[in-house]
Amino acid sequence: MNKIGIDLGGTKIEGILTDENYQTITRKRIPTNQNNGYNSILDSIKNLILEFIQESNEKVSIGVCTPGALSLDSGLIKNSNTQCLIGKNIQNDLKNLLNHDISIENDANCFSLAETKLGAGKDHDLVFGVIMGTGVGGGIIIDGNIHHGRSNIAGEWGHHCLHVNGNKCYCGNRGCVETYISGPALEKHFNDLSLVDKMSLHQIIKFYESRYHQDDDPNLPNFKKWRQIFLDNFGLALANVIDILDPDIIILGGGVSNIDFLYDEGKNSVYDKVFSDVIDTPIVKNQLGDSAGVFGACLL
Ligand SMILES: [Zn+2]
Repeated sequence: MNKIGIDLGGTKIEGILTDENYQTITRKRIPTNQNNGYNSILDSIKNLILEFIQESNEKVSIGVCTPGALSLDSGLIKNSNTQCLIGKNIQNDLKNLLNHDISIENDANCFSLAETKLGAGKDHDLVFGVIMGTGVGGGIIIDGNIHHGRSNIAGEWGHHCLHVNGNKCYCGNRGCVETYISGPALEKHFNDLSLVDKMSLHQIIKFYESRYHQDDDPNLPNFKKWRQIFLDNFGLALANVIDILDPDIIILGGGVSNIDFLYDEGKNSVYDKVFSDVIDTPIVKNQLGDSAGVFGACLL
């Protein structure tokens, strides 16, 4: 049976048709057009799937990777930075439109599943995958299956509390991981400390990492302070996971995972905080890049 995977993102919808061994037959990317509302997004996805069904010369399975968490009771999308999806049951709506079964999972679970089966996590029984991008999320894969948990929140790493009286989070709590080590949170923190004009995370790393030992730059102490706080928060956030789950491997994804120092100093910061004197959990970069979403959807 061929597989169709759809990755629904805030700016683009990506679709892929693969054979049963996950080899790509066709791949297509279209804009999300959030401004035209939910029904327009639904229509775009439907048409993309119909194109793939027509192209496939055999039966297909269909999986969709969505931003935001899914409610266990209702199947509705609970929170998402694609606002018009909130409160919608995209799985049922697509099923009715296409008259075909649809599997659906959030992006962190799709990422973790794809990396476990096709990427950096192969041959590992217990994998913890994290996305550090615009938002922060996590997924737990046990023996090749997504672990959802009793309340369907297993792996919701982005909203566990790092600092009791810490930053306010949109979820209503304070001190969530996402408010410290998501891309926007890191940028905001640096720009609040900084003496220079606003910089993107990419610019901050590119500019100051290469000048780390040039102490004549007046803004360098601010960068070093920011970097140390980042490492401390990253270390604590993942040490908490290891203390409870003790995974075989941790795989990092999302834009923030491109920062090289997470894999040496970041890893050491995690190890320092774990409740064990022997610790060698691999903390590695993803292998599938932006493709984890579509392949994760195919694997559902
Ligand atoms: Zn939160």
